[in-house]
Amino acid sequence: MHNKLKKLKKLVGEAFELQRIAAILDWDQQVEMPVAAAAGRARQAALLSGLAHEKFTGAELGELLNELVPEMKNLDPESDDYCLIRLTARDYDRHIKVPAGHVAEFAHATSLAHSEWEKAYAEADFLLFRDSLSRIFKLCRDYAGFFAPYDHIYDPLLAEFEPGLKTAVITEIFAALRPPQVELLHEIAAHPEPDQSCLKQVFAADKQWQLARAAAAAIGYDFNRGRLDSAVHPFTTAFNLNDVRITTAVKTDNLNALSSTLHEAGHAIYEQNIAQSLENTPLATGTSLAIHESQSRLWENLVGRSRPFLKFFYPRLQNAFPELRRVPLDEFYRAWNTVKPGFIRVNADEATYNLHIMLRFELEVAMLEGVLAVADLPEAWNAKMKEYLGIVPPDDARGCLQDVHWSAGLVGYFPTYALGNLISAQLWEGCREACGSLDAELEQGNFAGLRHWLNRNIHCHGSKFELLEVLRRAVGTGIRPEVYIRYLREKYTALYGR
Ligand code: ZN
Repeated sequence: MHNKLKKLKKLVGEAFELQRIAAILDWDQQVEMPVAAAAGRARQAALLSGLAHEKFTGAELGELLNELVPEMKNLDPESDDYCLIRLTARDYDRHIKVPAGHVAEFAHATSLAHSEWEKAYAEADFLLFRDSLSRIFKLCRDYAGFFAPYDHIYDPLLAEFEPGLKTAVITEIFAALRPPQVELLHEIAAHPEPDQSCLKQVFAADKQWQLARAAAAAIGYDFNRGRLDSAVHPFTTAFNLNDVRITTAVKTDNLNALSSTLHEAGHAIYEQNIAQSLENTPLATGTSLAIHESQSRLWENLVGRSRPFLKFFYPRLQNAFPELRRVPLDEFYRAWNTVKPGFIRVNADEATYNLHIMLRFELEVAMLEGVLAVADLPEAWNAKMKEYLGIVPPDDARGCLQDVHWSAGLVGYFPTYALGNLISAQLWEGCREACGSLDAELEQGNFAGLRHWLNRNIHCHGSKFELLEVLRRAVGTGIRPEVYIRYLREKYTALYGR
Protein backbone atom coordinates (compact mmCIF):
# COMPACT_ATOMS: atom_id res chain seq x y z
CA MET A 1 0.00 0.00 0.00
CA HIS A 2 2.86 2.33 0.84
CA ASN A 3 4.16 2.40 -2.73
CA LYS A 4 0.72 2.87 -4.23
CA LEU A 5 0.08 5.78 -1.91
CA LYS A 6 3.37 7.30 -2.90
CA LYS A 7 2.42 6.96 -6.55
CA LEU A 8 -0.98 8.54 -5.88
CA LYS A 9 0.59 11.49 -4.10
CA LYS A 10 3.03 12.05 -6.94
CA LEU A 11 0.31 11.89 -9.60
CA VAL A 12 -2.32 14.10 -7.95
CA GLY A 13 0.39 16.33 -6.49
CA GLU A 14 1.62 17.12 -10.00
CA ALA A 15 -1.91 17.69 -11.28
CA PHE A 16 -2.62 20.01 -8.37
CA GLU A 17 0.65 21.85 -9.01
CA LEU A 18 -0.35 22.38 -12.65
CA GLN A 19 -3.58 24.00 -11.47
CA ARG A 20 -1.60 26.28 -9.19
CA ILE A 21 0.73 27.29 -12.01
CA ALA A 22 -2.41 28.11 -14.00
CA ALA A 23 -3.46 30.30 -11.07
CA ILE A 24 -0.26 32.33 -11.45
CA LEU A 25 -1.13 32.97 -15.10
CA ASP A 26 -4.63 33.97 -14.09
CA TRP A 27 -3.43 36.34 -11.37
CA ASP A 28 -1.06 37.93 -13.85
CA GLN A 29 -3.88 38.29 -16.37
CA GLN A 30 -6.13 40.06 -13.87
CA VAL A 31 -3.45 42.22 -12.23
CA GLU A 32 -0.55 42.95 -14.57
CA MET A 33 -1.02 41.68 -18.10
CA PRO A 34 -1.29 44.05 -21.08
CA VAL A 35 -4.70 43.69 -22.77
CA ALA A 36 -3.23 42.69 -26.12
CA ALA A 37 -1.84 39.51 -24.56
CA ALA A 38 -5.27 37.95 -23.98
CA ALA A 39 -5.30 35.49 -26.89
CA GLY A 40 -1.81 34.19 -26.19
CA ARG A 41 -2.56 33.83 -22.52
CA ALA A 42 -5.80 31.96 -23.23
CA ARG A 43 -3.79 29.35 -25.20
CA GLN A 44 -1.34 28.90 -22.33
CA ALA A 45 -4.11 28.63 -19.73
CA ALA A 46 -5.99 26.07 -21.85
CA LEU A 47 -2.82 23.98 -22.24
CA LEU A 48 -2.18 23.88 -18.50
CA SER A 49 -5.74 23.10 -17.50
CA GLY A 50 -5.85 20.38 -20.18
CA LEU A 51 -2.71 18.79 -18.73
CA ALA A 52 -4.12 18.91 -15.20
CA HIS A 53 -7.43 17.45 -16.41
CA GLU A 54 -5.63 14.57 -18.15
CA LYS A 55 -3.80 13.69 -14.97
CA PHE A 56 -6.92 13.89 -12.83
CA THR A 57 -8.97 11.69 -15.19
CA GLY A 58 -6.35 9.38 -16.70
CA ALA A 59 -6.42 5.57 -16.66
CA GLU A 60 -3.33 5.51 -14.45
CA LEU A 61 -5.17 7.30 -11.65
CA GLY A 62 -8.24 5.08 -12.16
CA GLU A 63 -6.16 1.92 -11.74
CA LEU A 64 -4.43 3.28 -8.64
CA LEU A 65 -7.76 4.17 -7.05
CA ASN A 66 -9.14 0.72 -7.87
CA GLU A 67 -6.34 -0.73 -5.79
CA LEU A 68 -6.32 1.85 -3.01
CA VAL A 69 -10.03 2.34 -2.27
CA PRO A 70 -10.56 -1.23 -0.97
CA GLU A 71 -7.60 -0.72 1.37
CA MET A 72 -9.06 2.42 2.97
CA LYS A 73 -10.60 0.24 5.68
CA ASN A 74 -7.10 -0.26 7.08
CA LEU A 75 -6.59 3.48 7.51
CA ASP A 76 -7.74 5.89 10.21
CA PRO A 77 -10.67 7.87 8.65
CA GLU A 78 -9.21 11.06 10.12
CA SER A 79 -5.77 10.52 8.61
CA ASP A 80 -4.44 12.62 5.75
CA ASP A 81 -3.97 9.52 3.60
CA TYR A 82 -7.54 8.31 4.05
CA CYS A 83 -8.92 11.76 3.26
CA LEU A 84 -6.70 12.11 0.21
CA ILE A 85 -7.87 8.81 -1.28
CA ARG A 86 -11.51 9.62 -0.51
CA LEU A 87 -11.36 13.09 -2.08
CA THR A 88 -9.42 11.89 -5.13
CA ALA A 89 -11.87 9.03 -5.72
CA ARG A 90 -14.84 11.35 -5.30
CA ASP A 91 -13.57 13.84 -7.87
CA TYR A 92 -12.32 11.14 -10.23
CA ASP A 93 -15.74 9.46 -10.29
CA ARG A 94 -17.40 12.78 -11.01
CA HIS A 95 -14.99 13.66 -13.82
CA ILE A 96 -15.09 10.38 -15.69
CA LYS A 97 -18.89 10.30 -15.85
CA VAL A 98 -18.87 13.32 -18.15
CA PRO A 99 -17.96 12.53 -21.79
CA ALA A 100 -15.17 14.64 -23.31
CA GLY A 101 -17.59 15.72 -26.08
CA HIS A 102 -19.85 17.34 -23.51
CA VAL A 103 -16.97 19.12 -21.81
CA ALA A 104 -15.90 20.61 -25.15
CA GLU A 105 -19.46 21.59 -26.11
CA PHE A 106 -20.01 23.22 -22.74
CA ALA A 107 -16.75 25.19 -22.97
CA HIS A 108 -17.72 26.37 -26.45
CA ALA A 109 -21.28 27.31 -25.43
CA THR A 110 -20.18 29.25 -22.35
CA SER A 111 -17.51 31.17 -24.21
CA LEU A 112 -20.11 32.27 -26.79
CA ALA A 113 -22.66 32.93 -24.06
CA HIS A 114 -20.25 35.19 -22.25
CA SER A 115 -19.94 37.59 -25.15
CA GLU A 116 -23.71 37.44 -25.81
CA TRP A 117 -24.27 38.22 -22.13
CA GLU A 118 -21.88 41.20 -22.28
CA LYS A 119 -23.86 42.62 -25.20
CA ALA A 120 -27.22 41.97 -23.55
CA TYR A 121 -25.98 43.49 -20.30
CA ALA A 122 -24.63 46.61 -22.02
CA GLU A 123 -27.94 47.10 -23.82
CA ALA A 124 -30.09 45.94 -20.90
CA ASP A 125 -31.88 43.60 -23.28
CA PHE A 126 -32.55 40.04 -22.14
CA LEU A 127 -33.62 38.95 -25.63
CA LEU A 128 -30.00 39.16 -26.79
CA PHE A 129 -29.02 36.57 -24.18
CA ARG A 130 -32.13 34.36 -24.15
CA ASP A 131 -31.03 31.71 -26.67
CA SER A 132 -27.56 31.38 -25.15
CA LEU A 133 -29.05 30.91 -21.72
CA SER A 134 -31.49 28.29 -23.04
CA ARG A 135 -28.55 26.40 -24.53
CA ILE A 136 -26.68 26.52 -21.22
CA PHE A 137 -29.62 25.19 -19.24
CA LYS A 138 -30.12 22.43 -21.82
CA LEU A 139 -26.44 21.45 -21.42
CA CYS A 140 -26.82 21.56 -17.62
CA ARG A 141 -29.75 19.13 -17.89
CA ASP A 142 -27.59 16.87 -20.09
CA TYR A 143 -24.84 17.09 -17.48
CA ALA A 144 -27.20 16.04 -14.70
CA GLY A 145 -28.28 13.13 -16.92
CA PHE A 146 -24.77 11.62 -16.75
CA PHE A 147 -25.33 11.19 -12.99
CA ALA A 148 -28.80 9.62 -13.13
CA PRO A 149 -30.38 8.34 -11.02
CA TYR A 150 -30.33 11.30 -8.68
CA ASP A 151 -32.69 12.56 -5.97
CA HIS A 152 -32.99 15.93 -7.69
CA ILE A 153 -31.79 17.14 -11.10
CA TYR A 154 -29.97 20.02 -9.36
CA ASP A 155 -27.91 17.66 -7.16
CA PRO A 156 -25.19 16.83 -9.71
CA LEU A 157 -24.71 20.54 -10.52
CA LEU A 158 -24.54 21.50 -6.86
CA ALA A 159 -21.96 18.75 -6.25
CA GLU A 160 -19.54 20.64 -8.49
CA PHE A 161 -19.40 23.50 -5.95
CA GLU A 162 -20.60 22.00 -2.69
CA PRO A 163 -19.80 18.28 -2.66
CA GLY A 164 -21.83 16.23 -0.22
CA LEU A 165 -24.75 18.67 0.01
CA LYS A 166 -28.21 17.87 -1.38
CA THR A 167 -30.75 20.18 -2.98
CA ALA A 168 -33.38 18.99 -0.49
CA VAL A 169 -31.22 20.23 2.40
CA ILE A 170 -30.82 23.67 0.85
CA THR A 171 -34.53 23.88 0.04
CA GLU A 172 -35.35 23.14 3.67
CA ILE A 173 -32.81 25.67 4.98
CA PHE A 174 -34.09 28.40 2.67
CA ALA A 175 -37.71 27.62 3.54
CA ALA A 176 -36.86 28.28 7.18
CA LEU A 177 -34.76 31.35 6.39
CA ARG A 178 -37.04 33.21 3.99
CA PRO A 179 -40.01 34.21 6.22
CA PRO A 180 -37.97 35.66 9.11
CA GLN A 181 -35.62 37.46 6.68
CA VAL A 182 -38.53 39.10 4.87
CA GLU A 183 -40.21 39.93 8.18
CA LEU A 184 -37.06 41.50 9.61
CA LEU A 185 -36.67 43.59 6.49
CA HIS A 186 -40.24 44.89 6.81
CA GLU A 187 -39.59 45.82 10.44
CA ILE A 188 -36.40 47.68 9.55
CA ALA A 189 -38.10 49.46 6.65
CA ALA A 190 -40.62 50.91 9.11
CA HIS A 191 -37.79 52.93 10.72
CA PRO A 192 -36.23 56.06 9.24
CA GLU A 193 -33.06 55.52 7.21
CA PRO A 194 -29.82 56.41 9.04
CA ASP A 195 -27.97 59.55 8.00
CA GLN A 196 -25.36 58.39 5.48
CA SER A 197 -23.92 61.78 4.58
CA CYS A 198 -20.59 60.88 6.27
CA LEU A 199 -20.05 58.22 3.59
CA LYS A 200 -20.74 60.61 0.74
CA GLN A 201 -17.43 62.35 0.24
CA VAL A 202 -14.17 61.92 -1.61
CA PHE A 203 -11.85 59.38 0.04
CA ALA A 204 -8.31 59.70 -1.35
CA ALA A 205 -7.10 56.48 -2.98
CA ASP A 206 -3.64 56.41 -1.37
CA LYS A 207 -5.16 56.70 2.09
CA GLN A 208 -7.61 53.91 1.29
CA TRP A 209 -4.75 51.66 0.20
CA GLN A 210 -2.91 52.27 3.47
CA LEU A 211 -6.06 51.53 5.47
CA ALA A 212 -6.85 48.40 3.47
CA ARG A 213 -3.34 47.07 4.10
CA ALA A 214 -3.52 48.00 7.78
CA ALA A 215 -6.91 46.27 8.22
CA ALA A 216 -5.78 43.07 6.47
CA ALA A 217 -2.57 42.96 8.52
CA ALA A 218 -4.45 43.66 11.76
CA ILE A 219 -6.80 40.70 11.39
CA GLY A 220 -3.86 38.41 10.64
CA TYR A 221 -3.34 38.24 6.89
CA ASP A 222 0.36 37.42 6.58
CA PHE A 223 2.02 39.83 4.14
CA ASN A 224 5.25 37.81 4.26
CA ARG A 225 3.31 35.05 2.53
CA GLY A 226 1.07 37.16 0.34
CA ARG A 227 0.48 40.55 -1.23
CA LEU A 228 -2.29 43.00 -1.96
CA ASP A 229 -2.79 44.36 -5.47
CA SER A 230 -5.40 46.16 -7.49
CA ALA A 231 -7.91 44.29 -9.68
CA VAL A 232 -11.22 45.24 -11.30
CA HIS A 233 -13.05 42.34 -9.63
CA PRO A 234 -11.43 41.61 -6.26
CA PHE A 235 -10.36 37.99 -5.75
CA THR A 236 -8.04 35.75 -3.73
CA THR A 237 -5.71 33.16 -5.24
CA ALA A 238 -3.19 30.69 -3.83
CA PHE A 239 -0.02 29.55 -5.62
CA ASN A 240 1.03 27.51 -2.60
CA LEU A 241 0.41 27.70 1.15
CA ASN A 242 3.09 30.38 1.50
CA ASP A 243 1.94 32.55 -1.38
CA VAL A 244 -1.73 33.48 -1.04
CA ARG A 245 -2.55 36.76 -2.77
CA ILE A 246 -5.45 39.15 -2.46
CA THR A 247 -6.68 42.01 -4.60
CA THR A 248 -9.02 44.91 -4.09
CA ALA A 249 -10.59 47.74 -6.08
CA VAL A 250 -10.36 51.26 -4.65
CA LYS A 251 -12.90 53.90 -5.68
CA THR A 252 -12.63 57.41 -4.30
CA ASP A 253 -16.41 57.97 -3.91
CA ASN A 254 -16.84 55.23 -1.28
CA LEU A 255 -15.03 53.19 1.37
CA ASN A 256 -16.03 49.78 0.03
CA ALA A 257 -12.39 48.78 -0.51
CA LEU A 258 -12.09 48.37 3.26
CA SER A 259 -14.88 45.79 3.38
CA SER A 260 -13.78 44.08 0.22
CA THR A 261 -10.19 43.80 1.50
CA LEU A 262 -11.38 42.27 4.78
CA HIS A 263 -13.48 39.86 2.70
CA GLU A 264 -10.56 38.72 0.56
CA ALA A 265 -8.22 38.63 3.57
CA GLY A 266 -10.75 36.28 5.21
CA HIS A 267 -10.49 33.91 2.23
CA ALA A 268 -6.70 34.22 2.32
CA ILE A 269 -6.32 33.64 6.07
CA TYR A 270 -8.13 30.33 5.50
CA GLU A 271 -5.66 29.27 2.79
CA GLN A 272 -2.59 30.56 4.65
CA ASN A 273 -3.41 28.48 7.72
CA ILE A 274 -3.95 25.07 6.15
CA ALA A 275 -1.61 22.49 7.73
CA GLN A 276 1.74 22.54 5.93
CA SER A 277 1.71 18.72 6.00
CA LEU A 278 -1.02 18.83 3.33
CA GLU A 279 1.10 20.91 0.91
CA ASN A 280 1.45 19.57 -2.64
CA THR A 281 -1.74 17.53 -2.37
CA PRO A 282 -5.30 18.42 -3.42
CA LEU A 283 -6.10 18.66 0.30
CA ALA A 284 -4.05 21.88 0.52
CA THR A 285 -6.95 24.19 -0.29
CA GLY A 286 -10.28 25.28 1.20
CA THR A 287 -12.82 22.49 1.27
CA SER A 288 -15.86 24.12 -0.29
CA LEU A 289 -17.25 27.39 -1.57
CA ALA A 290 -19.68 27.79 1.33
CA ILE A 291 -17.01 27.23 3.98
CA HIS A 292 -14.72 29.61 2.10
CA GLU A 293 -17.43 32.24 1.98
CA SER A 294 -18.12 31.76 5.69
CA GLN A 295 -14.54 32.86 6.33
CA SER A 296 -14.65 35.93 4.11
CA ARG A 297 -18.07 36.97 5.42
CA LEU A 298 -17.07 36.49 9.03
CA TRP A 299 -14.18 38.95 8.73
CA GLU A 300 -16.00 41.33 6.39
CA ASN A 301 -19.28 41.57 8.30
CA LEU A 302 -19.40 39.95 11.72
CA VAL A 303 -16.03 41.50 12.56
CA GLY A 304 -15.59 44.35 10.08
CA ARG A 305 -19.05 45.86 10.47
CA SER A 306 -19.23 45.35 14.23
CA ARG A 307 -19.08 48.14 16.75
CA PRO A 308 -16.08 46.62 18.62
CA PHE A 309 -14.04 46.48 15.40
CA LEU A 310 -14.96 50.06 14.56
CA LYS A 311 -14.04 51.16 18.05
CA PHE A 312 -10.54 49.92 17.21
CA PHE A 313 -10.39 50.96 13.57
CA TYR A 314 -12.51 54.08 13.26
CA PRO A 315 -9.85 56.38 14.80
CA ARG A 316 -7.57 55.29 11.94
CA LEU A 317 -10.26 56.25 9.45
CA GLN A 318 -10.69 59.61 11.19
CA ASN A 319 -6.97 60.12 11.05
CA ALA A 320 -6.87 59.47 7.32
CA PHE A 321 -10.01 61.46 6.50
CA PRO A 322 -10.26 64.55 8.71
CA GLU A 323 -13.90 65.15 7.63
CA LEU A 324 -14.81 62.11 9.73
CA ARG A 325 -13.41 63.68 12.89
CA ARG A 326 -16.67 65.47 13.55
CA VAL A 327 -18.69 62.28 12.95
CA PRO A 328 -19.12 60.31 16.20
CA LEU A 329 -18.41 56.57 16.14
CA ASP A 330 -22.06 55.60 16.58
CA GLU A 331 -23.18 57.78 13.72
CA PHE A 332 -20.59 56.18 11.45
CA TYR A 333 -21.52 52.71 12.75
CA ARG A 334 -25.17 53.28 11.85
CA ALA A 335 -24.35 54.64 8.41
CA TRP A 336 -21.91 51.77 7.74
CA ASN A 337 -24.69 49.28 8.53
CA THR A 338 -27.54 50.84 6.58
CA VAL A 339 -30.13 48.32 5.47
CA LYS A 340 -31.78 49.20 2.20
CA PRO A 341 -33.27 46.88 -0.42
CA GLY A 342 -31.45 47.39 -3.70
CA PHE A 343 -31.42 45.80 -7.15
CA ILE A 344 -27.81 44.67 -7.16
CA ARG A 345 -26.70 41.58 -5.25
CA VAL A 346 -23.04 42.52 -4.86
CA ASN A 347 -24.00 45.80 -3.18
CA ALA A 348 -26.50 44.18 -0.82
CA ASP A 349 -26.23 44.60 2.96
CA GLU A 350 -26.23 41.81 5.53
CA ALA A 351 -30.00 41.86 6.01
CA THR A 352 -30.96 41.66 2.33
CA TYR A 353 -28.15 39.65 0.73
CA ASN A 354 -29.63 36.20 1.31
CA LEU A 355 -32.90 37.21 -0.33
CA HIS A 356 -31.01 37.91 -3.57
CA ILE A 357 -29.54 34.42 -3.34
CA MET A 358 -32.77 32.60 -2.58
CA LEU A 359 -34.36 34.27 -5.58
CA ARG A 360 -31.56 33.06 -7.87
CA PHE A 361 -31.61 29.56 -6.40
CA GLU A 362 -35.36 29.19 -6.90
CA LEU A 363 -35.19 30.46 -10.47
CA GLU A 364 -32.26 28.30 -11.54
CA VAL A 365 -33.86 25.22 -10.03
CA ALA A 366 -37.14 26.03 -11.81
CA MET A 367 -35.36 26.55 -15.16
CA LEU A 368 -33.44 23.30 -14.72
CA GLU A 369 -36.58 21.38 -13.86
CA GLY A 370 -38.26 22.94 -16.91
CA VAL A 371 -40.99 24.43 -14.70
CA LEU A 372 -39.89 27.91 -15.75
CA ALA A 373 -39.15 28.62 -19.42
CA VAL A 374 -35.91 30.56 -19.88
CA ALA A 375 -37.87 33.06 -22.00
CA ASP A 376 -40.00 33.91 -18.95
CA LEU A 377 -37.02 34.61 -16.67
CA PRO A 378 -37.28 38.44 -16.58
CA GLU A 379 -40.92 38.41 -15.44
CA ALA A 380 -40.27 35.70 -12.85
CA TRP A 381 -37.23 37.61 -11.60
CA ASN A 382 -39.11 40.86 -11.21
CA ALA A 383 -42.05 39.17 -9.47
CA LYS A 384 -39.74 37.63 -6.87
CA MET A 385 -37.87 40.92 -6.37
CA LYS A 386 -41.20 42.52 -5.62
CA GLU A 387 -42.19 39.72 -3.25
CA TYR A 388 -38.93 39.50 -1.28
CA LEU A 389 -37.44 42.98 -1.45
CA GLY A 390 -40.44 45.09 -2.36
CA ILE A 391 -38.79 46.65 -5.42
CA VAL A 392 -38.81 45.97 -9.16
CA PRO A 393 -35.70 46.62 -11.29
CA PRO A 394 -36.23 49.25 -13.99
CA ASP A 395 -34.44 47.10 -16.59
CA ASP A 396 -32.86 43.65 -17.05
CA ALA A 397 -29.31 44.92 -16.55
CA ARG A 398 -30.30 45.71 -12.99
CA GLY A 399 -32.39 42.55 -12.93
CA CYS A 400 -31.75 39.09 -14.33
CA LEU A 401 -28.68 40.11 -16.38
CA GLN A 402 -26.61 41.53 -13.51
CA ASP A 403 -24.54 38.43 -12.66
CA VAL A 404 -21.93 36.80 -14.86
CA HIS A 405 -22.49 33.32 -13.32
CA TRP A 406 -25.11 31.77 -15.60
CA SER A 407 -23.32 32.95 -18.73
CA ALA A 408 -20.25 31.10 -17.46
CA GLY A 409 -22.31 27.96 -16.93
CA LEU A 410 -22.12 28.30 -13.14
CA VAL A 411 -25.49 26.79 -12.27
CA GLY A 412 -25.52 25.49 -8.69
CA TYR A 413 -23.06 28.10 -7.42
CA PHE A 414 -25.32 30.79 -5.96
CA PRO A 415 -26.58 29.00 -2.82
CA THR A 416 -23.01 28.75 -1.49
CA TYR A 417 -23.01 32.53 -0.90
CA ALA A 418 -26.02 32.39 1.42
CA LEU A 419 -24.82 29.22 3.12
CA GLY A 420 -21.53 31.01 3.79
CA ASN A 421 -23.44 33.79 5.56
CA LEU A 422 -25.35 31.30 7.69
CA ILE A 423 -22.23 29.36 8.60
CA SER A 424 -20.30 32.54 9.43
CA ALA A 425 -22.82 33.32 12.19
CA GLN A 426 -22.64 29.76 13.53
CA LEU A 427 -18.85 29.88 13.73
CA TRP A 428 -18.97 33.32 15.31
CA GLU A 429 -21.36 32.01 17.96
CA GLY A 430 -19.33 28.82 18.41
CA CYS A 431 -16.13 30.77 18.93
CA ARG A 432 -17.76 33.13 21.42
CA GLU A 433 -19.09 30.16 23.38
CA ALA A 434 -15.63 28.60 23.47
CA CYS A 435 -13.54 31.75 24.00
CA GLY A 436 -15.93 34.01 25.90
CA SER A 437 -17.07 37.35 24.53
CA LEU A 438 -14.54 38.59 22.02
CA ASP A 439 -15.72 42.19 22.10
CA ALA A 440 -13.02 43.46 24.46
CA GLU A 441 -10.31 41.80 22.35
CA LEU A 442 -11.73 43.21 19.11
CA GLU A 443 -11.92 46.69 20.59
CA GLN A 444 -8.18 46.41 21.32
CA GLY A 445 -7.44 45.24 17.80
CA ASN A 446 -6.59 41.80 19.11
CA PHE A 447 -7.92 39.19 16.67
CA ALA A 448 -5.68 36.29 17.69
CA GLY A 449 -8.29 34.50 19.84
CA LEU A 450 -10.84 34.41 17.03
CA ARG A 451 -8.25 33.58 14.38
CA HIS A 452 -6.69 30.75 16.37
CA TRP A 453 -10.11 29.22 17.01
CA LEU A 454 -10.77 29.30 13.25
CA ASN A 455 -7.26 27.94 12.57
CA ARG A 456 -7.90 24.95 14.83
CA ASN A 457 -11.49 24.23 13.85
CA ILE A 458 -11.62 25.10 10.15
CA HIS A 459 -8.41 26.16 8.46
CA CYS A 460 -5.91 23.47 9.41
CA HIS A 461 -8.05 20.69 7.88
CA GLY A 462 -7.82 22.03 4.32
CA SER A 463 -10.07 19.83 2.19
CA LYS A 464 -9.90 16.78 4.47
CA PHE A 465 -13.59 16.95 5.38
CA GLU A 466 -16.70 18.07 3.51
CA LEU A 467 -18.86 21.00 4.61
CA LEU A 468 -21.25 19.22 6.97
CA GLU A 469 -18.42 17.30 8.62
CA VAL A 470 -16.36 20.48 9.07
CA LEU A 471 -19.35 22.15 10.69
CA ARG A 472 -20.12 19.16 12.91
CA ARG A 473 -16.54 19.18 14.19
CA ALA A 474 -16.51 22.94 14.77
CA VAL A 475 -19.93 23.55 16.33
CA GLY A 476 -21.55 20.14 16.66
CA THR A 477 -24.52 20.76 14.33
CA GLY A 478 -25.57 21.06 10.71
CA ILE A 479 -26.51 24.35 9.01
CA ARG A 480 -28.90 26.26 11.26
CA PRO A 481 -30.50 29.35 9.68
CA GLU A 482 -31.95 30.47 13.02
CA VAL A 483 -28.47 31.39 14.25
CA TYR A 484 -28.01 33.89 11.45
CA ILE A 485 -31.50 35.30 12.03
CA ARG A 486 -30.71 35.65 15.73
CA TYR A 487 -27.49 37.50 14.88
CA LEU A 488 -29.29 39.88 12.49
CA ARG A 489 -32.12 40.50 14.97
CA GLU A 490 -29.80 41.34 17.84
CA LYS A 491 -27.66 43.61 15.72
CA TYR A 492 -30.43 45.51 14.00
CA THR A 493 -32.66 45.78 17.06
CA ALA A 494 -29.78 47.54 18.79
CA LEU A 495 -29.19 49.70 15.74
CA TYR A 496 -32.74 50.58 14.77
CA GLY A 497 -34.76 49.89 17.92
CA ARG A 498 -37.83 47.67 17.86
ZN1 ZN B 1 -15.93 35.62 -1.37
